[in-house]
Amino acid sequence: MPHHDAEKITLNPAGGLKVPDRPVVLFIEGDGTGPDIWRATQPVLDAAVDRAYGGQRGLAWQEVLAGEKAFKRTGSYLPVETLNDLREFRVALKGPLTTPIGGGFRSLNVTLRQVLDLYACIRPVRYYQGVPSPLKEPQKIDMVVFRENTEDVYAGIEWQAHSEEARRLIAFLNKELGCSVDQGAAIGIKPMTERCSKRLIRMALKYALDHGRASLTLMHKGNIMKYTEGAFQNWGYEVALELGERVVPEAEIGSRYHGQVPAGKVVLKDRLADNLFQQILLRPEEYAVIATPNLNGDYISDALAAQVGGLGMAPGANVGDGCAIFEATHGSAPKYAGQDKVNPGSLILSGAMLLEYLGWNEAAQLIHQALPRVLAAGVATYDLARQLPGAQEVSCSQFGQSLIEHMG
Ligand code: NAD
Repeated sequence: MPHHDAEKITLNPAGGLKVPDRPVVLFIEGDGTGPDIWRATQPVLDAAVDRAYGGQRGLAWQEVLAGEKAFKRTGSYLPVETLNDLREFRVALKGPLTTPIGGGFRSLNVTLRQVLDLYACIRPVRYYQGVPSPLKEPQKIDMVVFRENTEDVYAGIEWQAHSEEARRLIAFLNKELGCSVDQGAAIGIKPMTERCSKRLIRMALKYALDHGRASLTLMHKGNIMKYTEGAFQNWGYEVALELGERVVPEAEIGSRYHGQVPAGKVVLKDRLADNLFQQILLRPEEYAVIATPNLNGDYISDALAAQVGGLGMAPGANVGDGCAIFEATHGSAPKYAGQDKVNPGSLILSGAMLLEYLGWNEAAQLIHQALPRVLAAGVATYDLARQLPGAQEVSCSQFGQSLIEHMG
């Protein structure tokens, strides 16, 4: 890739990204098996772009340091330059990072999300023919989960049982607010705001509209947690009103549209979290985009990934306003580091999401089409090969090469 004509991705004054033909895209190699899967992934993404646009477009990859490699070179696991570059260049692909033990960090990933305000964790879940799945009809699953990333019980506000803080808080709750909390309780706080809930739901609804998806479902536990999860549900309906006629509450399909939703509109549903866990097993075809608070989102993302064959192939992204990091959803699997062995599927599919984020859907499509062809040819890395009868086990890099060979 000639870097002399590489340009920055910028924001469109009218909204959305302005993507040049040779955008600078950052990458973080990652720790453990990160470099293995990155080496397999980059050629796949470059080949997809090259074939889709006949050389008219290309990705100008630029490395930024994070994790162990950054620590070795700079003495910091997350150098300031990396954060500055992520802010400036806006789009990055990231391998898994090993959580440093005792480094004063809760997690590098959590820090990245907080510092860059990447408030939506987006996880598309779809089935690829050939992947072993525990479901009878896994092909009915085609959903995208938007999980709120900054609030809820994950805000990290909690105190150990019998600690001074817990004791003081319990005394306040019992004395001032008429509660009867056990003196020996551990205490966690669940903050949820209108601003953060609405921006997440707005992003999910916009995605559903832009991608012609049939519905958006608000997943919540508002029957029990009325002022947090219940408010999330109400704020969701308020966001829908902002978008006017394009969003149709499920309850109005019968009364206003005689049971038939007109094309181009998105149906707004809401489901209690426990019910939605049943629904994704029993009637998955009725759900397309899901917007949900942090904890629910954590659970349902992994449950859905398992239903279509596990985390090994699950892509993901953490996205804010004008900044997005696409990443493998699994960890750094350090015991296989440097062996060119693990499955690069998660990072490759995260790369395909990145291409879609740039609006380069044709290139992403080439990857989505090639993957089932490769699996149908019985080519797989060890993790899938051991579940596929008669499969040929290939290395991480060979799996990437095979994808390139099977692109249209
Ligand atoms: P892990 O995901 O690294 O490994 C769990 C299991 O899945 C292991 O058996 C591993 O061999 C297997 N596995 C993982 N990726 C695979 C792949 N691409 N192909 C085939 N098999 C694969 O989880 P862990 O062992 O709990 O965590 C290791 C490190 O990664 C920890 O430091 C953890 O904090 C970190 N981590 C990082 C991220 C991230 O960067 N997003 C996510 C999870 C864990």
